Amino acid sequence: MIKRVGVLTSGGDAPGMNACLRAIIRAGINQGLEMYVIYNGYRGIIERKIEKVNRSFVSEIINRGGTKIGTARLPEFTQEEVQDQAVKILKEYGIDALVTIGGDGTYRGALALSRKGINCVAIPGTIDNDVASTDFTIGFDTALNTIISCVDRLRDTSSSHQRCSVIEVMGRDCGDLAIYAGIACGAEIVITKDHGMTKQELKDSIIRQIAEGKHHIMVIITEKLCDVKELAREIERDCGIEARSEVLGRIQRGGSPTGTDRVLAARMGVFAIDLLLQGRSGVCVGIVWSKMTATPIEEALAMKNKDNAFLMRVSDIIK
Ligand code: ATP
Repeated sequence: MIKRVGVLTSGGDAPGMNACLRAIIRAGINQGLEMYVIYNGYRGIIERKIEKVNRSFVSEIINRGGTKIGTARLPEFTQEEVQDQAVKILKEYGIDALVTIGGDGTYRGALALSRKGINCVAIPGTIDNDVASTDFTIGFDTALNTIISCVDRLRDTSSSHQRCSVIEVMGRDCGDLAIYAGIACGAEIVITKDHGMTKQELKDSIIRQIAEGKHHIMVIITEKLCDVKELAREIERDCGIEARSEVLGRIQRGGSPTGTDRVLAARMGVFAIDLLLQGRSGVCVGIVWSKMTATPIEEALAMKNKDNAFLMRVSDIIK
């Protein structure tokens, strides 16, 4: 039976990580567990930044973005000897279980530790929604709402000046932020890695939509697909409309978590403690059709990206 549980946040920060930390610490204490926080992800294990906490440690953080216990990347954690060192240090502290909050890299770290005897449960915390084993990750809804408020503002100026706005949003390989924002903001064109178009197809679409009477065009595109500044220049040159690019950048990561993210974070945190108390390890928490799920991390990492073609269809039909 586990007694001491450590919690860490790792990878990119996401709004709602604090709300999740709060839920894990309070649920653990309420179930009679001793709770520890580990600062700055897996790095904090190696650097022994480990602290026993009580319930008041997580007071006043439910509404705060970022993560109170910090996050960091520790690329060396892929090395077996560094993982062995982490296990040794955790055992010194008597920590027999871990809850990790982060993206797929964080999952890999948790899997490695669980194979070495530390009971680990991973929780998806990343704004990109790029974890296939869950419908939603903690932070996605807040980032989406931040994008919506930025795009709504851009719409005002884009429409007044009859411009084309090319707006780059985060998501890495996952197009969810772009597609959801595209639907929510009524974008004329959405481009993601899975639903791409050639530059010529894009320009033809813009020219056609202008001919059909559109005075301004909003293009929402996932990051890293092209140089959006250059793309806007080409659109302006070839499509007969003034064009500007906007890269929303890290602003998408910050801010107070939405109600949806806070509730998701609370549910996932409580569920993670339940799983540890049931003796589960090497699993990750998810939400699928509104229900909490536990999937073996190995299986989750092997899953293909969620199919969001049905959302793309909605976006295409109502533009
Ligand atoms: P985000 O999606 O926000 O980037 P992430 O969890 O995917 O979050 P990464 O930087 O990929 O972010 O991973 C976070 C940390 O997890 C790494 O710095 C490293 O310490 C650990 N990690 C990543 N990959 C592995 C791996 N293959 N084995 C062990 N640990 C890993």
